[in-house]
Amino acid sequence: MMRRLPLILFIAALAVGPQLLPEFTVTLLNYIGLYAVVALGLVLLTGVGGLTSFGQAAFVGLGAYTTAWLTTVHGVSPWLTLFIGLALTAAVALTLGFITLRMGGHYLPLGTIAWGISLYFLFGNVEFLGGHTGITGIPTISLLGWELKSGREFYYLIWLTVLLAMLALHNLLDSRQGRAIRALKGGVIMAEAMGVNTARAKIVIFLIAALLASISGWLYAHLQRFVNPTPFGINQGIEYLFMAVMGGIGHVWGAVLGAGLVTVLKQWLQDWLPTLLGQSGNFEIIVFGMIMILVLQRARDGLWPMLARWAPATTGPRRVPQADALPRRPAQTAGTLLLDAHDVTKRFGGLVANNKLSLTVQAGEVMALIGPNGAGKSTMFNCISAVDPATEGEIAFLSASTADAASRDLAGRGMSRTFQHVRLLGQMTVLENVAIGAHLRGNKGVVSAALRLDRAEEVRLLAEAARQIERVGLAEHMFDAAGSLALGQQRIVEIARALASDPALMLLDEPAAGLRYREKQALADLLRKLRDEGMGILLVEHDMDFVMGLADRIVVMEFGEKIAEGKPEEVQSNPRVLEAYLGGVE
Ligand code: ADP
Ligand code: MG
Repeated sequence: MMRRLPLILFIAALAVGPQLLPEFTVTLLNYIGLYAVVALGLVLLTGVGGLTSFGQAAFVGLGAYTTAWLTTVHGVSPWLTLFIGLALTAAVALTLGFITLRMGGHYLPLGTIAWGISLYFLFGNVEFLGGHTGITGIPTISLLGWELKSGREFYYLIWLTVLLAMLALHNLLDSRQGRAIRALKGGVIMAEAMGVNTARAKIVIFLIAALLASISGWLYAHLQRFVNPTPFGINQGIEYLFMAVMGGIGHVWGAVLGAGLVTVLKQWLQDWLPTLLGQSGNFEIIVFGMIMILVLQRARDGLWPMLARWAPATTGPRRVPQADALPRRPAQTAGTLLLDAHDVTKRFGGLVANNKLSLTVQAGEVMALIGPNGAGKSTMFNCISAVDPATEGEIAFLSASTADAASRDLAGRGMSRTFQHVRLLGQMTVLENVAIGAHLRGNKGVVSAALRLDRAEEVRLLAEAARQIERVGLAEHMFDAAGSLALGQQRIVEIARALASDPALMLLDEPAAGLRYREKQALADLLRKLRDEGMGILLVEHDMDFVMGLADRIVVMEFGEKIAEGKPEEVQSNPRVLEAYLGGVE
């Protein structure tokens, strides 16, 4: 209750606002609401997903012009044009998204600028859209027989939209799909290896952001009752981005805060600066720019996180999710050939990191891949898991070639892995990180998540993640941010995440590095148990006591080539191995 108090007060204030406030303030609040809807899309797209767009104003324009034209020229009902506008926006966003989202780095923001400018000029130059004069006489909206004629009335529709959009976004981010989306910024390789289709996730957030912008445009057109191209230009696109960044990119509330601050600040500066300076001019833009730089420098995550610190603390210890176990894939009988890598070669330009390397892993065995630093072990892991596919050679997993498979396909087929350089989402809890491993064991989509229809599945996924965390001995850290754990523990979190996918074969790249003696023993016990249950484990590890005590078979590499293979005792006495490790013995 205490935790919800600020929210309840906020909604109460919103509800009584138009009854108490002067006309001017209500108008300002209407604009803040309209901007907030667009900024919410940017929070998802840019803040959470890491995809920068300067072109959102164009989508606002698409929603506004669609309804303006159809209602005035063809007399279509505004509620119908809302959906037509959304369909049109979706079509445009999907087309643009498929083209631009492939472009990495600075090409994407440049692409968004390009289409932002193009659409703006399209609005201004198409004759039937009224050119630069625009379209007037847009009808009002009726809501259940109540005609929203004044700004005071329209206010309720705007802010209801804002609250619903916030709720849907909040729900989405707290779900299986939300975890996949949150992995887009800095975790694409990991997420793909856990079975997430990251290209699809990018398109989805791009689409959601565009649709929110389109809804804002529809509202704008019927509030203002005329449209022209000006508010849909690239300047406004940049300003939307300012709002999201200033308010707190990545936070649902940041969108509202940012929209509010930018709008009020600009208004205030516009009113006061000319008086203060004694001359007229667009001084607010200059001052606004300077304030923006200051905010970016002082509060990189925007102002919302600073404000949130004043909120009442979240209540007590969190409950460990509990639910029935998820269905598991049929266990492999010990001795079944899981992995068959044959003559695998991997070149990086002139460097041959793996040279005709072959190895196999069976169900119910621990196979260790050892060799000095730089021998090519991690490269081999990347070839096997299709994270960075081999240049030549054949790899079969469960008797099927992996030649055309992406790493997420292999995850679906029962292969999971950890990374030598830990790939966790540091700000997310251990529980959420591990739940990403269980991504393919659920199937609820974005819409179910936004509408909270995914809860039964969600609790099962989280319960599975919790079980794996308990299994690896990290129960006490379940709700800690993954990045706050010691590096050795983070490696163990990666093992739990791999286990959450219910793999038949697990690839572990230096899992014991950074662990203390007892922790290593516990890890070895766990791996033995998994092996006895029929899992195949391919292990890279430098701690020779750990490897020799655990592995059933060992492949030794040096300079990308296999120099020995066999049982631990055979390998240990092999002169080439001793030479590679000790630099030659008599
Ligand atoms: P190990 O895991 O056995 O220590 P790696 O597989 O990481 O060795 O590296 C093997 C060799 O391949 C090293 O010489 C390394 O510098 C090189 N290498 C690894 N990844 C890349 C890459 N993406 N681009 C170029 N060279 C690479
Ligand atoms: Mg390595």
